[in-house]
Amino acid sequence: MTVVAEPPKKLVCWSCDSENDADAQFCANCGKLQPYTPADYFAFFGLPRRFQLDTAALEKQFYRLSRKFHPDLYARASAEEQRWSLEKSSVLNDAWRTLRDPLARTEYLLGLVGIRLEAQSRDASDRAAENGTAKPQVVPPDLLEEVFELNMQLEEMRMAKAGGAGDPEVRGSLEAAKENFDRQLNASEQDLHALWSQWDHAAGANDGATQQAAQQRMVDLLNRRSYIRNLMRDVEEALKN
Ligand SMILES: [Zn+2]
Repeated sequence: MTVVAEPPKKLVCWSCDSENDADAQFCANCGKLQPYTPADYFAFFGLPRRFQLDTAALEKQFYRLSRKFHPDLYARASAEEQRWSLEKSSVLNDAWRTLRDPLARTEYLLGLVGIRLEAQSRDASDRAAENGTAKPQVVPPDLLEEVFELNMQLEEMRMAKAGGAGDPEVRGSLEAAKENFDRQLNASEQDLHALWSQWDHAAGANDGATQQAAQQRMVDLLNRRSYIRNLMRDVEEALKN
């Protein structure tokens, strides 16, 4: 049995009827702005879905497109073109903000492949709690002991403060804990970059199993990072004056 691949979709220019790539923003023949069609941020920029991105090239592309979509340029164009330029400008800004930021990009691409992360900050889980959809953060197993120790130190610090006296020893261990968490966050960033690279290579090679494994490790890593960031916030709060 032969499988005939579906030809890639084409976009027919509303103005001159010539065929363009489906994600073309402007007609290659007449240069007219094309209708806005909902697309993910990668497709909007004409990029493949990858975690690793040349952000310098993306920035150039962003500035180039923001000039070309600028609503002022369409002040005398048709109402449709004015609307498309507004829509495209707005999506362009959202897409740029998301893709230029390594963590936002990671969460976004994981979302595109169907993965929703746990609440990434305490603010988010507070909001979720108000909506009755709270999902408490699970302590990463390898942090159990450190978290137990830290909670005792935080309690000691609270008691020392309540007693009106500082406790230099507890303060010292909290400062050490903060440095330790800081180091762990830096190390996890390196790990994340390695997972990006694994996933991207696997995507190029159509190796779904490797992609899935890398995705799962990214989720664990991001949850661990958000857990550590919340701990650091508690420590910083306790160390204030
Ligand atoms: Zn055209």
